[in-house]
Amino acid sequence: MGVENNPLGENIITTSLDTVVNWSRKSSIWPMTFGLACCAIEMMATGASSHDLDRFGIIFRASPRQADCIIIAGTVTKKMLPVIKTVYEQMPEPKWVVAMGACACSGGVFDTYSVVQGIDEALPVDVYIPGCPPRPEALLYGLTKLREKIMKERNSFGNAIGLGDRLEPAA
Ligand code: SF4
Repeated sequence: MGVENNPLGENIITTSLDTVVNWSRKSSIWPMTFGLACCAIEMMATGASSHDLDRFGIIFRASPRQADCIIIAGTVTKKMLPVIKTVYEQMPEPKWVVAMGACACSGGVFDTYSVVQGIDEALPVDVYIPGCPPRPEALLYGLTKLREKIMKERNSFGNAIGLGDRLEPAA
């Protein structure tokens, strides 16, 4: 929004601190380097040069302590679930979860004794991406939806300085 009668013309904008914080967060999503099964291959392809996640500021990190997003890419076995929970707990707030593919969303075709029937049984999922496997374009679309969701969060600045919780947009 331009300021009226401003000698700086269109070179000044007014906005809210929440918008600035949300904009910086959605422009620098750093997911964990963490794959579980075949969907992880599509996730790697999305990060490679032809799809180029870097242009969105999305850069994979090798440590949960440097990551603010975890993409559950693959089949979640009950044996692996405690490891996933530990990795998630090691990530600092704020953090987001993407369930990539049918297995992560619902167990997929593996309705068996050993497979978790959806990672949302254990983690708060922000975005679900269907498909077996979803193509890189689908992951890009899912991450775009996550960026939109981050932009709608409220009290982001207040939460950053210890004043209350972030308020998530209504579903
Ligand atoms: S959704 Fe399909 S491609 Fe993805 S991990 Fe499951 S079986 Fe593999």
